[in-house]
Amino acid sequence: MRDHHDIVIVGGGVIGLTIARALALRGVRNVCVLERGNLGTEASWAAAGMLLPQVEADAQDDFFDLACRSRDLYPAFAAALREETGIDVELDTTGTLYLALNQHDHEEIEKRYEWQTRAGFQVERLSGAEARELEPCISESTLGALRFPKDIQVENRRLLSALANSVKKLGVTILTQTTVDSLLLEGNRVDGVQTSRGAISCASVVIAAGSWSTFIKPSPPIPTIEPVRGQMVCLEAKPQLTRHVIYSPRGYLVPRQDGRLLAGSTSEHAGFAKCVTAGGIATILRNALDISPGIAELPMVDTWAGLRPRAPDGLPVLGPCGEIDGLFCATGHYRNGILLAPLTGELISEAIVSSQR
Ligand SMILES: Cc1cc2nc3c(=O)[nH]c(=O)nc-3n(C[C@H](O)[C@H](O)[C@H](O)COP(=O)(O)OP(=O)(O)OC[C@H]3O[C@@H](n4cnc5c(N)ncnc54)[C@H](O)[C@@H]3O)c2cc1C
Repeated sequence: MRDHHDIVIVGGGVIGLTIARALALRGVRNVCVLERGNLGTEASWAAAGMLLPQVEADAQDDFFDLACRSRDLYPAFAAALREETGIDVELDTTGTLYLALNQHDHEEIEKRYEWQTRAGFQVERLSGAEARELEPCISESTLGALRFPKDIQVENRRLLSALANSVKKLGVTILTQTTVDSLLLEGNRVDGVQTSRGAISCASVVIAAGSWSTFIKPSPPIPTIEPVRGQMVCLEAKPQLTRHVIYSPRGYLVPRQDGRLLAGSTSEHAGFAKCVTAGGIATILRNALDISPGIAELPMVDTWAGLRPRAPDGLPVLGPCGEIDGLFCATGHYRNGILLAPLTGELISEAIVSSQR
């Protein structure tokens, strides 16, 4: 007899866990998350936790709308997780400063300010002096800045702990150290999965396996997901250097409540080599020093790298995989998986529940 679960989720990162929780909250029983290693130890752990749809948008398109909707779910999402688990995910609503450190940046922030104010989004324009008054640590050569009060940050590692805790309490089965090798199909519908611990039968499968999503056999009918390496540097700032997230087109600084100050990142096509390199760290530190020369004195306490899952068009791959009944995908979140997690959970759980009606 094979093990049976109604719904199997492949991957225990922020996306797989958020979908599992959303399904359980909709009353779906017998959900199982299968994770190759340990929960939340890949891209979701490596991330900076910035929730910045407005900072990063050049125009109002469907992706921008999706990203803003997900960001705006965060206060309720964080409060519910705290209620369920007692874990504070440290949603920090101070906001983000986007700095112009040269003439080109200045033209960019002018364009961003124009279209976002015209479209009714909240954004404040500051002179260099005003920005430095707000955050004295930033470079004296700051030409100007935009303040985005609604673009905020979350402590993504605490978020993963809260999600793992929540799904366990909600009765989701979690199997770690379990790799899904292939889908078991009955004609053109899902019948189960073959794993490193044997077969599991199920009616629906959600592929949320990040950068490894297209390795599952037969390859799901979705675009190939590729890894884009991002390296990070962690400094120690006690007292903390900045209250806002500080962003420039070349790098960022993210202050954590416990005194860590994250500096990121790189975007590298280096296959699955999840290592930190001398060149990567040098680039991050150069850009971070441009933002805030004062960080030169801070101790560097950690470095790490992670693999962002990217589809060829850079957009997330979400929803039913038309060709195979019972197969759903939630992958390709690239640079925005933490931001998009709450909405992904809502959309995928709704799609699964309505397919079963
Ligand atoms: C340096 C860096 C900074 C970032 N900063 C931000 C940020 O500030 N804001 C933001 O929104 N996003 C950020 N991101 C992006 C974000 O981290 C990702 O988009 C997000 O974590 C993707 O989540 P995921 O669950 O799809 O993937 P992952 O977290 O990679 O999880 C996928 C899981 O699937 C498991 N798995 C894979 N194959 C199998 C299999 N066959 N069987 C079982 N399990 C399997 C893996 O072990 C892994 O645990 C950043 C990423 C990096 C690397």
